[in-house]
This record gives sequence, structure tokens and C-alpha cells, in this order.
Amino acid sequence: MTDLHNSLHAIYDEVSRRNPGEVEFHQAVYEVLDSLGPVVDKHPDYVDSAVIRRLCEPERQIIFRVPWVDDAGAVQINRGFRVEFNSALGPFKGGLRFHPSVYLGIVKFLGFEQIFKNALTGLPIGGGKGGSDFDPKGRSDGEVMRFCQSFMTELYRHIGEYTDVPAGDTGVGTREIGYLFGQYKRITNRYESGALTGKGLTWGGAQVRTEATGYGTVFFVDEILRSNGQSFDGKRVVVSGSGNVATYAIDKIHQLGGTVLACSDSGGYVVDERGIDLDLLKEIKEIRRGRIAEYAEARPETARFVGDGSVWDVECDVALPCATQNELDYDAALRLTKSGCRVVAEGANMPCTPQAVKLFAESGVIFAPGKAANAGGVATSALEMQQNASRDSWSFDDTEQRLAAIMRRIHERCIATADEYDRPGNYVVGANIAGFTRVADAMLALGVV
Ligand code: NDP
Repeated sequence: MTDLHNSLHAIYDEVSRRNPGEVEFHQAVYEVLDSLGPVVDKHPDYVDSAVIRRLCEPERQIIFRVPWVDDAGAVQINRGFRVEFNSALGPFKGGLRFHPSVYLGIVKFLGFEQIFKNALTGLPIGGGKGGSDFDPKGRSDGEVMRFCQSFMTELYRHIGEYTDVPAGDTGVGTREIGYLFGQYKRITNRYESGALTGKGLTWGGAQVRTEATGYGTVFFVDEILRSNGQSFDGKRVVVSGSGNVATYAIDKIHQLGGTVLACSDSGGYVVDERGIDLDLLKEIKEIRRGRIAEYAEARPETARFVGDGSVWDVECDVALPCATQNELDYDAALRLTKSGCRVVAEGANMPCTPQAVKLFAESGVIFAPGKAANAGGVATSALEMQQNASRDSWSFDDTEQRLAAIMRRIHERCIATADEYDRPGNYVVGANIAGFTRVADAMLALGVV
């Protein structure tokens, strides 16, 4: 890691001291502060008015017990979280993650990132995140429903279309949003569609929301390739994960002429030399809720499953980490760089370690951080809120074009801001500074609140 600007060092030390043990949160804060040196040189008022210190402290943090009864009749207890990080630009907005690894530090890292990502979209949304250490894997629909109902029985007091608008994330898809929305509607006696996004199409959801994060990431990479006189046509791509983001990234890459050779889950990865068959992947992952190993069993002629390696061992031109935080470390980055990978874009949140990002910069690999590259999901959630507020619904094509235009504008903002601060082509600097200045200026305008 590089050394932070003096005034930012003190802020980082304070964050580490006040939030002990929350290593992912520290990492996310450091990553943003690391870009802000030239900004505070130019605008010392951001430090003097404590905007940066205030940004590092969530406006509100809620932790609650989630008791529920499993299919065997046993009482289970999980922990629920909602971190309402910053509402200078609009209601808190960010997903819910259900995964056994969830604790306060993960929710705070995600909520912190979300502030700048949401600012970067140019839309009126603040930043927040939530979730639980509940593991939906292997649970029946009835168990997932009872868990979601119990979770919402506490969460409903804190959310609403003008307050805080949760959505999906890892482990939370349309099924979970349905159970959460059903319970919210029942408790509040209001059909308040704008209180949650990621809803099903027949009950207030928006076209393209399911596809948005994966499609948006690929649109962003397409902008990168175009600005270098290239396209996806003929490119070999590796995508990690096989959940929501990965699936729709694969879909769009194939539409644009690239070939996705490999994808993964936490049990291993599959390589398919003919390109990942999206219908088969969806059948296994979305319908059967199965494991990626089943893909190779279904296509033994071209596909193989590797249970004990890293998906980043597969040679490619473009790599899209779309699974989880810190999944792509220095060694993986070195293998990718040596085998000719030229572009890495984060479909997931913070999947590349700081050491990997540094290596990409030193090796001339173009690197797009999640704040910019995966912002299409939350942007389309904001479009869902817009449609809910006006009781309208737009077509798939119309919404997809809006998503593509948003990703184009985010790309332009990153490039323009990186140029302004003499770091041409540096998407990390561009995204962090462009997102930060939008939210910081709003905070200055709103006073000390
Ligand atoms: P899903 O739950 O749909 O899928 C996650 C995928 O990642 C699964 O295939 C999972 O495999 C895999 N995975 C998890 N941990 C590991 C690991 N350690 N090694 C390999 N694979 C792993 O989540 P999403 O697709 O929604 O989210 C993925 C990432 O994208 C997260 O970082 C999320 O925060 C981010 N994101 C999501 C958005 C959205 O709209 N959904 C928006 C913006 C960012 P397994 O099933 O085995 O656990």
C-alpha cells in the first residue's frame, strides 16, 4: 500500500481504532482515502469541515435478532444488520446480503462503497447496506420464507421509499425480495412498491433489474475496449461466480461476440472450450439451485470441472471477478498478467486485493473498480424506484438503453476526472474522486448534520 496524505492518515487511524476487527471496512476506507490526496490539496475545506470524517461514520447502524423455526421445528437465531451510511444525495440505497460470512465489518465495507458508487451514477440515491449471517443454501422455500418474514418484522421500522430502500445482493434474489416485500406490505398495510427494489415483474419490479449488474459491467468494459479501439468480438473471457452478476455478465458477453471460457462457485470452476452454455448454467443455478460441478457432468465432451484450483489459472484476454470480496489476490493477478490478460473489471464488490490492483497498475492492465463497473445494478434499482413513483413501467429495450447510457456516462466521468487529476486512464482515481466530490459537495451544502 502507498502512504496516505498526512491529513488522511489521521482519519484512517481513527477509523481503524474506532472500528476494531472490521478489516474489510478498513480496506474499503483505505482504498478511497488513497485516491483523495490531490483532492484535499485542492479543497482543504473537505478536511476542515470534517466531511471525510463524517463520511466514514455511518448515520445509523441497526443490529437485530432474527429468530425463526426450521422445518424440523427447532428454533434458529440469526443476526440482522442494516447500516444506513449516508443520505446526503437521497434515501439510503443498497442491497441485503444473506451469507454465513456476514458480520458488521462486511456490511460496513459494502455500505461505504455504496455511497460513492451511488454518487457516481448521478442519480438521487444515498448509500446503505444490510444483511444477515443466515445461509439460504440447502434451506427449503418454507424456511427461507419464515426467515425473511422474521427479518422484515424488525427491518420494516427503518425502511421506506423516502428513508431507506433495500435490494438484493449475494443470497438475496427475487424469491427473498418477494417474501420480504410480502411481510412489509402485511405489517404496514401499504402497497409501497418503492420500499424495496429487485421485485418480480408482476408485482412492481422493473425490466432489466435482474440482468442489470452483469449487463452493466459488460457495458462498462465495452466502453473501455472501444476507447482503446477494440471490442468484445473474439475476446476470451473468464468470469468468476455463477450467481446473478456472473450469469448476466456471461449472457451479455456472448451477445457482444466474446466467449466466456470459465466460471465458478465456491466449490470450484468449470472450463468449457466451446463457451459456457448459458441455458444449461441457468437450469443448474437458477432452477435446480445446484452446484457448478453439475455443469461438467452435463457436458462431458467439452467441459471439465476443477475442484482444487483457481478460476484465474484459465488464460483470457478479459477477467471479470463476479463472486465475492478479496477473491483475486496478488498470485492470481500475476498469473493473469503473465498469461496476457489486458482488462480486469470488478463485477463483485472489492474482489481484487489491494496488492492485485497495484500489480495491474504496474503491469499496464486496465483495471475497472466495482464502484464504477458494477454500478448498473443500483442504477437500475433507481430506475425501478422512478417507475414505482410514477406508477409506470418501461419496456425491456427502453430500460436496457437507459442502463447502457448510464454506464457510458459513468465511464466518461471516470475518464474526465482521472484526466483532471493528471492520472489519465486510472479508473480507480477517476471513480473515487468523482463519487467523493459529488457526495462531499452535497454534505457541505446540507450543513453539519
Ligand atoms: P449470488 O449469491 O447470486 O452469487 C454469488 C456467486 O459467487 C455464487 O456463484 C457463489 O458460489 C460465488 N461465490 C461466493 N463466494 C465464493 C468464493 N469464495 N469463491 C468462489 N465463488 C464464490 O450473488 P450476486 O451475483 O448477486 O453477487 C456477487 C457479487 O456482486 C457480490 O460481491 C455482490 O456484492 C456484488 N454485487 C451484486 C449486485 C447485484 O445486483 N446482485 C450489485 C452490485 C454488486 P456459491 O453458491 O458456492 O456460494
